[in-house]
Amino acid sequence: MTSGNHSKLTFWGGTGLVTGANFLLEIENTNAKPLRILVDCGFVQGGSDSHELNAKNFSYDPRSIDILFITHAHLDHVGKIPKLVKDGFKGVIYSTSMTRELAQVILEDAAKLLMREAGNNPKNVIYNEEDILSAMRLWKDMPYHTKTEIGSGVSVYLKDAGHILGSTMYEFSRNGRNIVFTGDLGNSPDLLLPDTEKITDANYLVMESVYGDRNHESKEDRRAKFIRIVKENIARKGVLVIPAFSLERTQIVLYELDEMIERKDIPAVPVYLDSPMAIRVTEIYRRAMPEGFNEGVKKDFASGDDIFKFPDLRFTLTTDESKAILHAPNPKIIIAGSGMSNGGRVIHHEKNYLPDPNNTLLMMGYEAVGTLGRELMDGAKNVNIMGENVEVRARVENIQGYSGHKDSDHLIAFVEDTHETVEKVFCVMGEPKSSLFLVQRLRDYVGVNAMMPKLGDSFDLNF
Ligand SMILES: [Zn+2]
Repeated sequence: MTSGNHSKLTFWGGTGLVTGANFLLEIENTNAKPLRILVDCGFVQGGSDSHELNAKNFSYDPRSIDILFITHAHLDHVGKIPKLVKDGFKGVIYSTSMTRELAQVILEDAAKLLMREAGNNPKNVIYNEEDILSAMRLWKDMPYHTKTEIGSGVSVYLKDAGHILGSTMYEFSRNGRNIVFTGDLGNSPDLLLPDTEKITDANYLVMESVYGDRNHESKEDRRAKFIRIVKENIARKGVLVIPAFSLERTQIVLYELDEMIERKDIPAVPVYLDSPMAIRVTEIYRRAMPEGFNEGVKKDFASGDDIFKFPDLRFTLTTDESKAILHAPNPKIIIAGSGMSNGGRVIHHEKNYLPDPNNTLLMMGYEAVGTLGRELMDGAKNVNIMGENVEVRARVENIQGYSGHKDSDHLIAFVEDTHETVEKVFCVMGEPKSSLFLVQRLRDYVGVNAMMPKLGDSFDLNF
C-alpha cells in the first residue's frame, strides 16, 4: 500500500516577522502515526515583547516531534532549540556539520544573555548551558547533496543556501512531490560563499522575504561606498564604529577590509574586532576552510593567504582590552556586536563616539523594529543608551549591499526557476510590508500562487 498524499503545514513562527522561524510539517501515513517534523526553532528578536514570546510554551507538544531540521545557525533559527529539548523533545536534530558547530557558539552566547535577562536568577531563565548540551547530544550531521530517507516514504536533500557558512535549504520528497524550505537565502554572488543553488522542481515553497520589497545597491556601489566612508573617516581622524553581526557579516567586513588594504584602496588603519563571539566564529570559519567556501576563497586559501588576517587587525577578547580601545589613537575602526545595537560591546562604543561629528557609525545589516540600531538608522538625534541620553552628532551611514539576504529582484528570480512546478509559495520571515510586496510581485510577474501565512495558520498539502 502506498503512503497517503496528505500533509499539514503549520506556521508557528516567522510569519509577518523576520525572526522566530518555526514550521511544523505533519506527514500523514496510511498505516502509522504521522511523521512530525519541524524546520527551524528560532528566537524572536528585536521587539519589546521578544523575551516573553521566547519564554512562551510551544503551541504543540515537543514530545510528539520526530525530527528537527535546522537551516542555519542564526539565533532566529536556532534560539529556541534548548527550550524544545527542555520541554520534552527527544527526536533527532539534523543540520550540516558547520551549522552544528556554529549553533553551539551562538546558543552558548544566548544562554549568557538569557541569564542576565532573568536577573541572574536560574529559576527564571528560559534555558541554561545544560539544556544546550542536551540539545547537542541529539544533534546529527547531514551532508549537502546526499539523499537521505527519513521514514514514511519521505526523503530529504540538502542544497546550499549561500546565506552563511553551513546554511542549507531542505527539499523533502515523497511520491514525486517536493516541498522546499529555503531558510534564509544568500545575497549571491557572495564574497565568501558558493552561490545559492537553484530549485527547479518544488511543488511548495516556504521562502524567506526579509527584503521582499526592496533591492540592494550593486556590489560595485557597496564597495565604493565602503571605501569612501573609511577614507573620509580617516581624513577626519575619526572613529568608525561598525555594529556587526558576529556570524558571517563580521567575516565579510574583515575580508573586504583585507582586500581594500591589499589593493591600497584605503591607507592602513588599526581595526579592532571587539567581540568575543565574533572572534570565536571567525576561528570556526578559519578551521572549516576551504570546505563550504566559494572558489575564490579556496584559491586564496591554497595560495596561503589568510583572508581573516591583516597587519593592523587586533582581536580584543577581554574586557580590559576592549576598554583600552578608547585610549588608542585615532583614526581607527571598531567592529563590535551586536549587529542591531541591542546589546554587546558596540553600545559602549556608541555611547562614547556618537556625540562627536568626526566619527561615523556604519550600519550594514537588517535592523529590527524596536532596536537601537533601527532608531539610529531612522535618523534619531537623541537616543537612550544604558539609561543615558546620548546626542547623535556622528555621521550615520548605511550600506545594505553587504546584506546576507537576497533582495526583491533576486527572490523573484529564485522563484522563476521553479515556476513551472510550484503550486504555492508561502512568503515568510519578513515584516508584513516586505512579505506582502513580494507576494504581489510573485503573482504579477511570475504568475504563481503566493501568500503570506499568519501565525498559527495551517494548510493541507498534497504531499
Ligand atoms: Zn539568517
